[in-house]
Amino acid sequence: MLMKHLFFDWDGTLWDFETNSARALKKVFEKHNLQKYCKSFENFIGEYEIHNQWLWQLYRQGEIKKQQVSVERFGRTFQTFGINNSEFAEQFSAEYLLNTTLQTQLFPFAKEIVVYLHSKYHLHIITNGFTEVQYPKIENSGIAKYFSQIITSEEAGVLKPNAGIFEMALKKTNAKIEDSWLIGDDLEADIKGAVDFGMNCIFVNYKKNVNPFPNILEIKNLEELKKIF
Ligand SMILES: [Mg+2]
Repeated sequence: MLMKHLFFDWDGTLWDFETNSARALKKVFEKHNLQKYCKSFENFIGEYEIHNQWLWQLYRQGEIKKQQVSVERFGRTFQTFGINNSEFAEQFSAEYLLNTTLQTQLFPFAKEIVVYLHSKYHLHIITNGFTEVQYPKIENSGIAKYFSQIITSEEAGVLKPNAGIFEMALKKTNAKIEDSWLIGDDLEADIKGAVDFGMNCIFVNYKKNVNPFPNILEIKNLEELKKIF
């Protein structure tokens, strides 16, 4: 009983990051009347996504600091719409991050599956987000109580897919690697990370992406975990 440890990724696996992030962005966008500059919210978010993805990639590789990701993604987006104001980018970033912590949309079956698995296994979260944002997000989601430990990349000093965060996860939970599973939606951070580290893993493939890891279990929704565990 309770031998296995299941490490869930948070953003994009249990917590519907795209929906929640878009809702938070829209709130702050409307508060500051940015439609005056950007025509539409869709225009704004399209541009934002480009800068955000690129800056996150650099952050993941350790080339820039987290403050640069969180502020520059807005600074650069604003610049494309003719707004040059770094203080406003900082303010917008802080308001966006605060708003994301208030969003609570989970993926279908998230609550049910966590309740079900909680009775059989140790459940944990392993996440690359910013610590001060991830904790309130998880706390406000309504399912925090089902998880024993939260492991963040900031605490580990490296982000997934680096081995250091997986090592820290095992240490913090007293788990053995052969009893541990990583469940995540990101092919690089989660799946490549777990494969390289030698941990069992399950690819949550909501978007039906091509899976380059043929031997890795893949699910299309969280309910399928019931058949595996
Ligand atoms: Mg994810």
